[in-house]
Order: sequence, then structure tokens, then C-alpha cells
Amino acid sequence: MNRSVSLLSRASVGLLATLLVLCCMTGAARAALPDAAAIQAAIDKAYEDYKGLEEGAVADYIPALAKVDPKVYGIALVTTDGKVYTAGDLKTQVSIQSISKVFTMAKVMDESGPQSIYDNMGVDATGQVFNSIVAVEQYKGAEMNALVNPGAIAATGMVKGENYDAIWNSLLNYYSEFAGRKLTVLEDVYKSEAETNQRNQALAMLMYAYGHIEGDPLQATDIYTRQCSVGVNAQDLANMAATLANAGKNPVTGKRVATAENVPEILAVMATAGLYDDSGKWLYRTGLPAKSGVGGGIIAVSPGKFGIAVISPPLDAAGNSIRAQEAIADISNALGGNPYVVQAR
Ligand code: GLN
Repeated sequence: MNRSVSLLSRASVGLLATLLVLCCMTGAARAALPDAAAIQAAIDKAYEDYKGLEEGAVADYIPALAKVDPKVYGIALVTTDGKVYTAGDLKTQVSIQSISKVFTMAKVMDESGPQSIYDNMGVDATGQVFNSIVAVEQYKGAEMNALVNPGAIAATGMVKGENYDAIWNSLLNYYSEFAGRKLTVLEDVYKSEAETNQRNQALAMLMYAYGHIEGDPLQATDIYTRQCSVGVNAQDLANMAATLANAGKNPVTGKRVATAENVPEILAVMATAGLYDDSGKWLYRTGLPAKSGVGGGIIAVSPGKFGIAVISPPLDAAGNSIRAQEAIADISNALGGNPYVVQAR
């Protein structure tokens, strides 16, 4: 009797010890998000801190973008449980520009599997500007990624559909599901960019010549130009980012949009190449997969926690919104957004 009791207690000591070890191991997890008031305070502070920042210049290589109001400044953050926090201008739409490349890449991965983009344009940083011809020449259109223009146009060329309209509608619907509302094209931006996109046409021709575009390269360029002209506000972009933070399910609408298994790979390409040739600096500073567009938006993703977007058109030399970088870095820092930071044991 006594013996069996002591055996039992020895077993429970063993169990306790195991539990303790497990607790210590899980102790190195990421910290939870702070409460709602702290999240709102971080956003309000970043909004105020950078409202007066007047560095940078709006993009002018696309005539319609030169007319954009540099004062537009909006911040939105959406958590993976669908809570929304905002500051500033949430109404004004800018063109999504290069941020669209993430969602076209996601669509191609959904339709043709993640290996398709790996095999076609690659998943490596080019270290060059986003519309570099040198980057295409270096590896004959391979060893790059779907977030720089040549890889992005090739990705658009991979979207499935019977004809131009079918491809375009399927792409726009896909973007709209990420945003949680029906998005539309800013026609003046589309027209202006379509009249002046000879360099992108040249990139597409080279990608075609090297076998990375199968269909009509000029059609791929035109659909790409249209996708870059989709109008978005800060709230739309934050919903799109939060859908990625939430493994491909839109946390606001509750609808699954992208294949969950593809999301880590999408985030990996964003981390490597999302802010063009300044992607390393950005990742070093924040640890966040992100994507910028010359319309002035940046989205960033804290996996499992939140998606954030800031719109502010003035850009730095690499083509990234200056206020957006500052605001996102500060807010993420205040909320423990960096996925590489774990609590010390
Ligand atoms: N539509 C723009 C272009 O092709 C997108 C560039 C960008 O946002 N970096 O030049």
C-alpha cells in the first residue's frame, strides 16, 4: 500500500517536472498584443509625430501620380481577430501600384501552386531598382521575384482566364476579397500609365524573349498596368495585409481568400524584396514582411497578430513612402510586432 502511494507520488513528481520543462520551453514565445487602448495610442502617436514630416517627393514618372496630394496621410491596423484601429485620412484613394504584385503572386500560387513562381521568375532579391533591365539580363529573367516589375508582369501573364476580360475580372475580384469590398480602377491613373509604360513593355518583351511569358507580353503589361491603377484607401490596404497576417482568411469578412499553406512563402518574398533595394534595411529595422507602392502606400504584416497600412505619397529615393516607413516602424515597435523578437527566458 505504502509502496504504491510512493510510486504514485514519484510519478506525479515526474509529471510536474515534465510540465515545468514544457512551460519553460513555451516561455520563449512572442508576447501577446497590448490592449485596445495601447494599440490606439501607438497609432495616434505615430500619426501626430509624422504629420509634419515634409521630406520626399511624390512619384512623377507616371504623370497622373505627380498630381497626387502630398498631404494625404492615413493609418489603419487590423488585428487577426478583426479589430480595426485607425488615424487620419481613411477616405482618399491612391493607386495601389506595386502593392498589387503581392496579390497577383498569391493568385498565381493559388491557381498553379507555389512552385510555379519559384520555377518561373524565382524568389530572390535582385538588389536593383524595381524596373531594372540589368536585373533581367543578369540571369535571363530568372533568379528574381514577382515583386519587381519584370517578374510581376510575368506573374500577371500566368493568371488563368479565357481572354483579357476574364483574366482581369478574376484578378480584380481576388483583390476585392482581400480588401473586403469591391475595388475599382482609377481610370485617370490607368490612362496616364498606359500612355507612358514603354519601359515596362520593354521589360515584358525581354521576359518573353527569355521564355518567362507564354502568352502576349503586351497584354500581360496592359493587365499589369491596370492592376497597378486599382484605387485603395488605408483601410482597404490594412484589410489586405491582415488577411495575410491571418493565414489567408480575411479577419473582417471571415472569408478564406488565399491558400493558407502559401502565405509563409508569400511573406518570405515580401521580406526579401518588398521595399525594393531597401528591403534589407527595412527588415533589419522592423522584421516585418512588407510591400510598398509608388502611389504612396505601404502594407506590413506581423504574422498571427496584425496587418497595417499607411498611405502618404511622398517617397524616398528607393520609391518607398517616407511617413509610412516611420509610422509603421514605430507602431510595430510599440506593439511587439517584430516576429523575430521573442521574450527572453
Ligand atoms: N506601376 C508602377 C510601375 O510599373 C509600379 C511601380 C511601383 O509601385 N514601384 O512602374
